[in-house]
Amino acid sequence: DNAQPRKPSWIRVKAPGGKGYTETRDIMRSHKLTTVCEEAGCPNVGECWSQGHATMMIMGEICTRGCTFCNVATGKPDALDAFEPGRVADAVKKLGLNHVVITSVDRDDVEDGGAEHFAMTIRAIRRHAPDTTIEILTPDFLKCAPEALETVVAARPDVFNHNLETVPGLYPTVRPGARYFHSLRLLQRVKELDPSMFTKSGIMVGLGEDRQGVMQVMDDMRAADVDFLTIGQYLQPTPKHHTVDRFVTPEEFKAYEKAAYGKGFLMVSATPLTRSSYHAGDDFARLREN
Ligand code: SF4
Ligand code: SF4
Repeated sequence: DNAQPRKPSWIRVKAPGGKGYTETRDIMRSHKLTTVCEEAGCPNVGECWSQGHATMMIMGEICTRGCTFCNVATGKPDALDAFEPGRVADAVKKLGLNHVVITSVDRDDVEDGGAEHFAMTIRAIRRHAPDTTIEILTPDFLKCAPEALETVVAARPDVFNHNLETVPGLYPTVRPGARYFHSLRLLQRVKELDPSMFTKSGIMVGLGEDRQGVMQVMDDMRAADVDFLTIGQYLQPTPKHHTVDRFVTPEEFKAYEKAAYGKGFLMVSATPLTRSSYHAGDDFARLREN
């Protein structure tokens, strides 16, 4: 049956509003930019946007994949917009961000998977907002030549994030079209190409995985030299999406965090409302101070 467990008290979401929130929204609208905050219906949008923190989603609003946890529309995307990198960079400058997270839909329809578009966006931000640190959250470039990944790494983002999303056993139902070991290898390859670049990955929990599986993913990530880890509760965006198996308790998240630090991750965020980009800037700034 499709009965969903009831949302527990620790999943509390404040309604978005306030001056900072409106400012962020207006800049996104006027620059014709899409945010994953809105597309994914992220529960943290009120908090993040009121602090001028947003995650921009480039290369359109239509994805060539159809992951069952994700609210982004699947279909045939429009051609890449050559002016988008400039608009992103200008928005980053206007928002006055210390740290920006740039992500994208998957573009299996483009030969390089959008690698050059990512690189152009990174370079444009560097020119317009040289003090902003840049984190990218990329697709898996599964169908591309190895040069695609090299192009993105050569543009030198500060943090390279690619999410494994879930344990390997759940890939067929959660992330069809992706391959666990391909994604893991991608992360390892980034580190090989540029050992000075921070790598980051994350998973959602509550999809049906068990604790043992999560520990295995952490070990796999560390074997691929991944530096930062995020773990958050999966929330079902609409009834059509993958069901929530269970709500992982705050205590279990604490235990995951402790285990992850024990395995050698430099930075770990594991809470029910953790998302890939949640507090990414604060955490990164703290790390650089130490
Ligand atoms: Fe946006 Fe990330 Fe904040 Fe969610 S956690 S609102 S996706 S910046
Ligand atoms: Fe969503 Fe990314 Fe999967 Fe596309 S590839 S459906 S944007 S999670």
